[in-house]
Amino acid sequence: MAKPYKEILPGIHQLQVPIPNNPLGYVLPYLIEGDDGYILVDSGWDAPAAYGALMAQLHALGVPLKELRKVIFTHVHPDHYGLAGRLKGDCDAELMLGAPERGFIDSRYRRPEGLLDRMQQWLTSHGAPASEVEGLRSASMPVRGYVSPADPDTLLHGGEEIKSGRYTWEVIWTPGHSPGHMCFYDRGKKIMITGDHILPTISPNVSLHPEATGNPLHEYITSLRKIRDYDVEIALPAHEYDFIDLDARIQELEEHHTERMEEMLGGMNGQPKTAYEVAGHVKWVTGDFASFHPWMKRAAIGETLAHLEHMVMEGIVERIFEDGKQWYKPMQRTVRRSS
Ligand SMILES: [Zn+2]
Repeated sequence: MAKPYKEILPGIHQLQVPIPNNPLGYVLPYLIEGDDGYILVDSGWDAPAAYGALMAQLHALGVPLKELRKVIFTHVHPDHYGLAGRLKGDCDAELMLGAPERGFIDSRYRRPEGLLDRMQQWLTSHGAPASEVEGLRSASMPVRGYVSPADPDTLLHGGEEIKSGRYTWEVIWTPGHSPGHMCFYDRGKKIMITGDHILPTISPNVSLHPEATGNPLHEYITSLRKIRDYDVEIALPAHEYDFIDLDARIQELEEHHTERMEEMLGGMNGQPKTAYEVAGHVKWVTGDFASFHPWMKRAAIGETLAHLEHMVMEGIVERIFEDGKQWYKPMQRTVRRSS
């Protein structure tokens, strides 16, 4: 049987940890050799198959757990951070996480009750019908079972340097997919660990939700452009596979979001609509909005909102509050500026 892991570059092992019952299939943690131990970037979520796969690969590489010096999480989503508590119990590695992610550990994984209440109001105000609100609001609760939370020992802010053997990783703050998402760059070898910020074919979810207000799509696009300024020969993402033409991928992702805004604007047909209504007009690659599983449906509403809010900032649509709901009204017919 083919090994699930491979040595991408000397001392950098790309592991593969399954995410059972999830279309993403697996997460790719990176095990990096240092002078006195190893660094692990991302962990997989806390399911027996995932933990077992991670342990088996470390064992096959001859790396005892006690030699893990640092476990760095690109962000706090379950498939990246899920094994934090379990690893902390197994070894004495220093856990590192982007500072803006810190607050989500309690609100999502330890005490989600307040979040559930806010979620209910939020879904109603964005047009979800009463008959669906209950299912939608608790849709991500099962995922909590895949997270063993632990507090980070070190909070990352971007700009730090993390040394591991022949590599020196510059921490780059890339908010958008998650507010405290971090990428890691080795300037000498021109390697970028991109986490979920940039994947080779999947467009990462960029969403608004009750805890992420503001304009995450603007942050995401700004973070894409930030990465374009780095000279990268190989990109190491957290899903799919490693790839080389990062600039072209950045271009595609920006274009994808412009097209999606255009599609939403078209679906609004000049009329004020709620995010729920607009989401129903989008051709989602994963299927039809009306028949989505509640978890997917909520992600689609959040993603739609991220685009609508970005269009508010650009003056393309206007936000209106009426009848206890939030509506978006088109102010122009196209997203693209004619030049
Ligand atoms: Zn993620």
